[in-house]
Amino acid sequence: MNSVTVLGLGSMGFAIARLFVERGRRVTVWNRSAGKADALVAQGATLAATAADAIRASKLVVMCVYDYGAAKAVLQSPEVAQALDGKILVQLTTGSPEEAREALAWAHKQGAAYLDGAIQAAPSQMGQADTPVLLSGDSAVYASVQEVLKDLAGNIAFLGDKIEAAATMDLATLSYVYGATAGFIQGALIAETQGLDVGVFGKLVADISPTFGAFFKHEGAVIQSGDFTISESPMRISIEATRRILLSSRASGINAEIPAFIDGLFQRADRAGLADQELAALIKVVRAAPQAGSALSRP
Ligand code: NAP
Repeated sequence: MNSVTVLGLGSMGFAIARLFVERGRRVTVWNRSAGKADALVAQGATLAATAADAIRASKLVVMCVYDYGAAKAVLQSPEVAQALDGKILVQLTTGSPEEAREALAWAHKQGAAYLDGAIQAAPSQMGQADTPVLLSGDSAVYASVQEVLKDLAGNIAFLGDKIEAAATMDLATLSYVYGATAGFIQGALIAETQGLDVGVFGKLVADISPTFGAFFKHEGAVIQSGDFTISESPMRISIEATRRILLSSRASGINAEIPAFIDGLFQRADRAGLADQELAALIKVVRAAPQAGSALSRP
């Protein structure tokens, strides 16, 4: 399969199309604002006049536009829907699990195979051996396009047949990132309040991140196994650490909203008798509704 169509030439779609061109694919492109294709056409891509023409040019259609609203605006015309019959649509636009399910049902109605994906890298990071992209959908369809999609990312995590898996894991990993962002901002506030260099703090965070990545991989396995016997990090240490962060923030007179929220979770873990379990047992606190303490006894 050497031909590929790319719909959407924003920052990410352009990077995707350029990689396919550079890898020697026969690339047809379409974008709402046609001028964005100029540099690609100069490199050998073909600009289609309409999205339907672009889809007709290749069996494999890769789409990357702003959001699913934009995707619908492009796809849901009768001509485009008809052109999709017999095609493989790989949707790399970021969306929610619900949007992925809805898109699969819609694509199947048009006679198209459908894979859903989430890109976890910036446009300039595409095409590297370690570029992470999540994909899900029919495994036979994935097998048929895997070799082409490898042009975009060396680290494609295929998450299986559940179409919503890529969007769900994208949400889950972003949840981790934004939780860490809140903690990072509090850390920056702590450092600057003490007159310390926040740039150095950023470097220290970078230095500890690989170790913490390995740690969270372990904690994920603990949650999956359901065995919260202490194996790496006792909850008790974190109950004390989070309390220390809260009290120190208050003593310095800085904003303590973020530490107060985190301390609240760990205090609930303490009250639920989880202090002598592995740190990952904190999930028992958030699984349970705040008023339903009895649910904390779940494994
Ligand atoms: P972008 O630069 O803002 O480009 C948006 C694209 O969507 C353009 O091609 C734009 O067409 C098109 N578009 C928007 N509304 C449209 C509509 N109503 N009808 C038709 N086309 C429409 O966005 P991007 O950075 O390429 O991001 C694309 C996707 O990649 C997003 O889902 C984003 O979450 C994901 N992503 C991006 C990054 C990143 O760092 N950029 C990283 C990971 C994932 P026009 O050119 O005509 O405006």
